[in-house]
Amino acid sequence: MNICVCIKQVPDTNEIKVDPVTHTLIRKGVPSIVNPFDMYAQEVGVRLKEKSGGRLVVISMGPPQAAQALRSCLAVGADAAYLISSRSFGGSDTLATSYILSESIKAVEEKEGARFDLILCGKQATDGDTAQVGPEIAEHLDLPQVTYALDIIEKDGGIQVKREQDAGYDMIATKLPAVVTVVKLPYEPRYPTLKTRMGAKKKEIPVLTEAEIPTIDLAMCGLKGSPTRVKKTYSPVREKHGVKISGKDPVQAAGEMVEFLADAKLL
Ligand SMILES: Cc1cc2nc3c(=O)[nH]c(=O)nc-3n(C[C@H](O)[C@H](O)[C@H](O)COP(=O)(O)OP(=O)(O)OC[C@H]3O[C@@H](n4cnc5c(N)ncnc54)[C@H](O)[C@@H]3O)c2cc1C
Repeated sequence: MNICVCIKQVPDTNEIKVDPVTHTLIRKGVPSIVNPFDMYAQEVGVRLKEKSGGRLVVISMGPPQAAQALRSCLAVGADAAYLISSRSFGGSDTLATSYILSESIKAVEEKEGARFDLILCGKQATDGDTAQVGPEIAEHLDLPQVTYALDIIEKDGGIQVKREQDAGYDMIATKLPAVVTVVKLPYEPRYPTLKTRMGAKKKEIPVLTEAEIPTIDLAMCGLKGSPTRVKKTYSPVREKHGVKISGKDPVQAAGEMVEFLADAKLL
């Protein structure tokens, strides 16, 4: 099975800061990692490849430093990596991002000399957080899609996907090729070893610009190809409604709390 995994480099922090003027992420001084859901997607892909053979290719659209993220995937089972990078792609919203990735997938298929049977994405990226890119890639490529996957099993020439639900799981069967987005798994992705890290360092990561993606329409890329605009970003104001009873004898404090709750008509 030939697999393509889309990975995004994201800031390694829970506190995403946004430039108040440009409304873009402040990345300076913030270390980067591979989006954690994408590492789960890659692990699912590597396990499938180990079972049934084929090749696993990772792609990422981003600035030149996103090559680091691709290299870390090469160290944990990916066979090849391509960086999709051009000034024309900067400022893309999810629609433009998914369009560029879809056209890149076709260009990578040409370079690899084979179609992908499966395109894997993480459920969502921890910075933009929209969870739109995976499903939009499926739409652009006119492929079936399954979201929130916990497991993928090859069956009857297609796949069966164990899909996370609020109250249990769905088992969804689909033919291939298909797009699947992956959630947090009940196990951790594998770690690189010194040997696999050294191997990954030696691999070349081709950079694809619009020149290498012949079908791409630049009018659908970057800021000008993006129908959404971030007009304003702000953090919600934290309102302090709590009352702290401290420095007292516990029995006395409990009594005061009961009194307080009774006054507030909560008891
Ligand atoms: C504060 C802020 C708000 C934003 N709001 C919006 C908005 O409302 N609407 C909008 O359209 N865009 C918005 N964007 C832009 C959005 O972050 C980018 O378009 C981004 O490239 C894709 O969206 P996402 O991070 O939400 O990805 P998701 O849709 O959450 O990502 C899902 C999966 O798609 C794959 N993927 C995503 N991006 C890439 C990539 N560059 N390369 C490879 N694989 C990838 C990964 O597998 C990832 O796990 C916003 C950005 C910022 C900073």
